[in-house]
Amino acid sequence: MENKRDYYEVLGVSKTATADEIKKAYRKIAIKYHPDKNPGNKEAEEKFKEAAEAYDVLSNAEKRQKYDQYGPSLGPQGFPGGGYSYGGGMSMEDIFSQFGDIFGDINFGGFGSAAGGRRSRQRQRRGSDLRIRVKLSLEDIANGVTKTLKIPTYVACDHCKGTGAKDGVAFATCSTCHGTGTINRVQNTMFGAMQSTAVCPDCEGTGKTISEYCAYCRGEGVEKKDVQVSFTIPGGVEDGQVLTLRGKGNAPRHGGVNGDLLIVIEEIKHPELIRDGADVIYNLMLDFPTAALGGSVEVPTITGRARLKIAPGTQPGKVLRLRGKGVPNQQTGNRGDELINVMVYVPEKLTPEQQATIENMKGAPNMSPDENERNRIFSNLKHIFE
Ligand SMILES: [Zn+2]
Ligand SMILES: [Zn+2]
Repeated sequence: MENKRDYYEVLGVSKTATADEIKKAYRKIAIKYHPDKNPGNKEAEEKFKEAAEAYDVLSNAEKRQKYDQYGPSLGPQGFPGGGYSYGGGMSMEDIFSQFGDIFGDINFGGFGSAAGGRRSRQRQRRGSDLRIRVKLSLEDIANGVTKTLKIPTYVACDHCKGTGAKDGVAFATCSTCHGTGTINRVQNTMFGAMQSTAVCPDCEGTGKTISEYCAYCRGEGVEKKDVQVSFTIPGGVEDGQVLTLRGKGNAPRHGGVNGDLLIVIEEIKHPELIRDGADVIYNLMLDFPTAALGGSVEVPTITGRARLKIAPGTQPGKVLRLRGKGVPNQQTGNRGDELINVMVYVPEKLTPEQQATIENMKGAPNMSPDENERNRIFSNLKHIFE
């Protein structure tokens, strides 16, 4: 087992450290070992990753509690319920995405990295995603379907154009940042004083604050409305699949981009057909005379009832195929088949006449298969045993 340093030790904090102390400690280490400041230094990179991993666990109340309970020597498999890991697989991307919360917009300028540049860009506000479930019959899934729904959604307030300020104009210059949208901080690090720039917390980087709130939305900039949305669900979707309609989610407070509308597919079970990927399966129970003499039967399909010819001497376990009666494959668009599993019903109660008839058949030479027939029939049934 990998020998990991204690996370509290990594961050240099006590076991009883507050969330704020942990955040501060992590900040300090992350700035010191940031790859931009230590180009090509493997040891610094390891320290940087180690700290990010420690912070990932200790900054999350639930993960921290588990860590405290089970200690550092337990691997992910040691956790009841499983699935929990000490952030062992954190990529640099994960680490940098965690940065937004910690550093605001610290400018690692001068070190000229993509990650540093990305941090200094002002983040655009984004509304939350909406999630709806759409129930589809197998017929809808086979053919695709267009739905029109009314969905309660937060939309930008008309009166203030989503700003939250009266008539969309009642703004004043932010007194904290004097309209610049950023505040400067000087921090002492190992490398000496380092100037950092952060987004102004009072105006969220806009440089303006609202001087009079919009009365219609109480300054929220959004109001809830039933929004009519039409969308087409392509054929072949699966139960649990999520389709995303970009920008059809909620508007954020005070302007920005809308969230997405997530459409979760729920497949209504067909009463008779079983879906298997692009194929559908029907279990057909043949009566004994039809299996023996041949004939025709009616079977359900996605497009309605269909007549199916049964050859004389049809064995139980035989699979009949209706080509193209399945659902489309999402990747190729090719339609699957309907597979019909044949079973033969042996009557459980017989009239005296039927009993006499069958008694007559008993012992006749063709009533049992010979060795060859037996092998042939069983090899046709291989799919059942596999
Ligand atoms: Zn408004
Ligand atoms: Zn400001």
